[in-house]
Amino acid sequence: MNTMLLPADHPDTPVLAAELIKSGALVALPTETVYGLGANGLDPEAVAQIFQVKGRPGDNPLILHLTGADQIAQFCHHIPETAYRLAERFWPGPLTMVLPAKPNVPKRTTGGLNTVAVRCPDCEITRKIIALSGVPIAAPSANLSGKPSTTTARHVLDDHNGKIPAVVDGGPCAVGVESTIIDLTGDTPRLLRPGGITPEQLRQILGEIVIDEAVTAQLSPDAVAKAPGMKYRHYAPQEPVVIVAGEREVAARYIRAHMRKEDRVLCFEEELPLYAGCNPLSYGREDDPDSLGAGLFAALRILDDPGIHQVYARCPKGEGVAFAVQNRLKKAAAFRIIDPEAEG
Ligand code: AMP
Ligand code: MG
Repeated sequence: MNTMLLPADHPDTPVLAAELIKSGALVALPTETVYGLGANGLDPEAVAQIFQVKGRPGDNPLILHLTGADQIAQFCHHIPETAYRLAERFWPGPLTMVLPAKPNVPKRTTGGLNTVAVRCPDCEITRKIIALSGVPIAAPSANLSGKPSTTTARHVLDDHNGKIPAVVDGGPCAVGVESTIIDLTGDTPRLLRPGGITPEQLRQILGEIVIDEAVTAQLSPDAVAKAPGMKYRHYAPQEPVVIVAGEREVAARYIRAHMRKEDRVLCFEEELPLYAGCNPLSYGREDDPDSLGAGLFAALRILDDPGIHQVYARCPKGEGVAFAVQNRLKKAAAFRIIDPEAEG
C-alpha cells in the first residue's frame, strides 16, 4: 500500500480523509498534542485495525475525538454538570474526560470498559474531518506501541509508511505531549495522565482532585489500573534512560564522570555548554517548559537507536506543563532516578 501524505492546507484533504474514515480505513491525523492514528470509533472492525497496526494490547482503551461538547451526550450518559464546565473552559484543547459509555460505543474502542474517554482537539483540519466523516474518530498516538509518540507527519511515516492509507500533514504539534486525562466517573475526579491542561487549572473548576498513583510511580505489570493503558511502559526508547537529578553543575559533573562513548546526554538548551565534547542533545529550554513538551518526543525518537547504550536525561522541576514532561520522562526511564548528591 502507498501511504498518501495529505497537506492540511490542500482544499481536497478534508473530504479525502473523511471518505477514508467513512470507508473503515485508518488515517493519521494531526492534533495540538500528538499525531493520532484515527478510525471510525463506532466501527469495531475499523478500530481493530488501529490495534493491529500499532501492535497495541486490546485492553488499552482509545480516546474518541469529537467536534464539541454538544456531541458528548451521543456517546456518554450520567454526565456530571462539571463535564460541561470543563468542556466550556478547555475545549477545543488538550483535555480528555472519562465518562460512562453509552451502548453505541463498541467495547473494542473502550478496551472492554463501561467508560469512554472523549476529547475535542484544538486542530481545525482534524475537527473538520471529524465533522465530514459524521462519526467520532477513535485515535491513539500514531506511534508503534512502545515507541515514543509521534509529533510530526515524518514520525508517523517512520513507523507506518506503506501500512496505512494516509497521513494528514499539519506540521509539528504545538503541545507535543498527550492530553491531560481526568476521570469523572468516581466520587472525586481523578487525574489519570498529566498534559497540557494542568492540575491547577482543573482544580479551579473541580475543586479537589486526586492524582492517580500511576502518574508518579511505576505500576507493576499485573496491577489492575484504573486506566488499563497506564500499566504499559509507553514512550520508551530502546536503550535504558536514567534521569539525573540535582543542580546543573552537580549533575553535569556526575554525568561527565560516568558516561561512556556509546552514551548520550538529553539536557536543556541552557546546559549545552556544560556537555561540550559529549555530543549532548537538547529538547528545549528549562525556562520555557512549553518548549520541553514540544521537543521531548522528537528527541526520544532520535535517541531510539540501538547504537546508544545509556541516555542520561535532565528532567524539569515544577508544575504546569513541566509536570507532564516529568511524567513522560520518568515513564521513559521506568522511574529510575539518580541523585548525585545522595550518592556523594
Ligand atoms: P493514547 O491515545 O495512546 O495516548 O492513550 C489513550 C489513553 O487514554 C489510554 O492508554 C488510557 O490510559 C486512557 N483511556 C482511554 N479510555 C479510557 C477509559 N475509558 N478509562 C480510563 N482511561 C482511558
Ligand atoms: Mg500513546
